[in-house]
Amino acid sequence: MDVAVVGGGAVGVTVAHDLVETADVTLYEAEELGAGASGRAAGLCYDAFSDRRDAALAQRALARFRDLSGSGGFTFESSPYVWLARERTAESGDDADRLASEIREQAVRMRDHGLDVTTLAAAELGERFPQIATSDVAVAAVAEDAGYADPSAYTDTMGLLARAKGAAIEEGTPATLTADGRVETDAGVHGHDAVVVAAGAHTRSVVEPVAPLPVKPYRVQALVTESVDVTPPTLFDATGGFYLRPYGEGVLVGDGTEPVEQDPDDWDATADESFCEACIEYQERALGWSWPEKRSWAGLCTATPDGDPLVGELADGVYVATGWQGHGFMRAPAIAERLAAQVRGDGDPVAGFDPCRFDGDESFEIVEGMTVERR
Ligand SMILES: Cc1cc2nc3c(=O)[nH]c(=O)nc-3n(C[C@H](O)[C@H](O)[C@H](O)COP(=O)(O)OP(=O)(O)OC[C@H]3O[C@@H](n4cnc5c(N)ncnc54)[C@H](O)[C@@H]3O)c2cc1C
Repeated sequence: MDVAVVGGGAVGVTVAHDLVETADVTLYEAEELGAGASGRAAGLCYDAFSDRRDAALAQRALARFRDLSGSGGFTFESSPYVWLARERTAESGDDADRLASEIREQAVRMRDHGLDVTTLAAAELGERFPQIATSDVAVAAVAEDAGYADPSAYTDTMGLLARAKGAAIEEGTPATLTADGRVETDAGVHGHDAVVVAAGAHTRSVVEPVAPLPVKPYRVQALVTESVDVTPPTLFDATGGFYLRPYGEGVLVGDGTEPVEQDPDDWDATADESFCEACIEYQERALGWSWPEKRSWAGLCTATPDGDPLVGELADGVYVATGWQGHGFMRAPAIAERLAAQVRGDGDPVAGFDPCRFDGDESFEIVEGMTVERR
């Protein structure tokens, strides 16, 4: 079997790696491995999903991250994931109560799936994590099976392993598809038994000659601080919308979601000044102290009409993997593994992620997060 992979992000390199022992694999990457969202991601990883299918994928991904840790330049740091809602204020109103009850309900559903998740009141949270300011926390949940990693290091390491096993990785090679599903590069048109398109924000334009795909790129942002004295846990504040995690000597603060469709060939990769100011203020609120910015950036995530990814066979021999709603890195090892098995013909598609569940020309709003988190 001869397989082409278009796109060398976390997903594409993992598919290439997982197929190379049973197929001749050529990966076409427009720039260099990790040039897309994978080189800009915060690297949070957890199994805290209240949908059984998503939780199982996340657990498998965490197991693969841990297996890979120590190879090449890749390290997976285990660290609990805390998410919380703050008490109602005049400003947050009913939203605050809704978020707090959602967290309580999510934690129950997660425990039903066998996940190691606890619910904590403010005082208990403060006792366990004295680094967090907890006085106005209404409720928090802690997922023990979680951590973080450098997505660039993951992509490079998986790329190295795929190459060592015989995959041809052609960087600096933009590719598109012909109407009959062959790969076209500057060197000509190449026939393959199967093509997997994992081109991130460009996936729609790459597959357009074959079939329309309802996926929209949108900007999200991150900021890293100078060195800090106190190391916080990985934290998502459902009320403020921010998350943070230890990052080298500093802390990474993220969010800055702009729910506006972007042109993947013409967008602003610089973080907004207002986002950077809000990150500095947010540290004060979440941690009781604030450290100055070291660097900041923006990247493109991809949204779908129902908030679930588009993974599987789009047309005969043409497979896609995109639409991660900001959660593509943490699921890449598991979803790519399932897709590789589907391409080989010895695995089932991921239920619910079929890219043909839409006509492709749906109009829809970009909504932050994943379906399961919005239910
Ligand atoms: C600021 C930020 C923070 C994030 N934080 C997290 C997080 O904490 N946890 C998490 O799980 N996710 C996070 N994400 C989302 C995550 O980055 C993505 O979901 C994930 O990296 C997607 O990987 P991918 O391989 O599908 O796509 P990408 O990494 O975008 O890779 C696509 C690749 O295809 C290449 N390409 C494009 N067009 C072509 C073409 N025509 N021919 C050949 N190659 C092409 C690109 O150059 C790129 O290298 C974050 C994203 C951002 C921007």
